[in-house]
Amino acid sequence: NILGKAPDDPRLEDVYTLGKQLGKGAFGIVRQATKKATGEVLAVKSIAKSKLMCKEDVKDVQAEVAIMNLVGGHPNVVTLKSTHEDKDSVHLVMELCAGGELFDTIVESGNLTEKKAAEVFRKMVEVVHHCQVLGVMHRDLKPENFLLTSKEAEGELKLTDFGLGVFFKSAQRFKDLVGSPYYVAPEVLRKNYGHEADLWSLGVILYILLSGLPPFWGDTEEQIFKMVLRGHVDFKTDPWPKLSEAAKDCVKKLLEQDVSKRATAAQILKHDWLVKAGVAQDVSL
Ligand code: ADP
Ligand code: MG
Repeated sequence: NILGKAPDDPRLEDVYTLGKQLGKGAFGIVRQATKKATGEVLAVKSIAKSKLMCKEDVKDVQAEVAIMNLVGGHPNVVTLKSTHEDKDSVHLVMELCAGGELFDTIVESGNLTEKKAAEVFRKMVEVVHHCQVLGVMHRDLKPENFLLTSKEAEGELKLTDFGLGVFFKSAQRFKDLVGSPYYVAPEVLRKNYGHEADLWSLGVILYILLSGLPPFWGDTEEQIFKMVLRGHVDFKTDPWPKLSEAAKDCVKKLLEQDVSKRATAAQILKHDWLVKAGVAQDVSL
């Protein structure tokens, strides 16, 4: 019993009617689920116990639940509604993000205008700041893990997938090589990193929001890693010459190899680009 449930805890199928598949990941699948009692439509991530190979994997699932419970409640974090467990799986019932992944929106519409990018990006930095204040590092920030509540203009951005998330103490160093190749920070590849690694990933995301292309790329994982470690960022290719100096400066301050010089979430929230794009709220930090 991974989640410490009582034997008489209601089963997933008793409470919800399961519907279409919404997504799939390394540990399980995400489906739509309708609450029988109310008709409320939600999403359920089912993690197959057969894929949890070791004690660490089990701890990771427990951490995913604990982290979602802690950082949820922020308007830009997917809310965890309830959890269930049966012989084969652990189920996380979450609010539904019917607009799908931000990644697909970028693919459909290409790069965003600076104003739109700043609007979206400010929310991303705010939510990462919120997590860091609570001592949580996400470790897998990428456009696939930012969902939209709707495809319409009023769709809200929601961070999800805390499957690689960890609790950290301020100076704590980690060495697990986790994340996704395009977004992974150089110090993660060097297996000695802290919470600043999430800011690097945000820099990669911002570069993609503004240009439609990843800053570090290659045909294989090794080639991508080589580019990340080299750290050269191209601002010469279209559309960069047309974009503002402030936007480029924001990217540069995040894609900073030296973690002691890399911008913090609080600094980015006060960066000229976010402030002058007319979208920054007063942040009391
Ligand atoms: P994994 O750890 O396997 O990557 P995620 O939590 O990222 O699992 O879920 C995988 C995919 O399922 C997401 O990228 C998204 O497409 C979809 N998904 C996850 N949660 C939701 C949700 N609350 N609403 C809608 N789709 C979701
Ligand atoms: Mg994911």
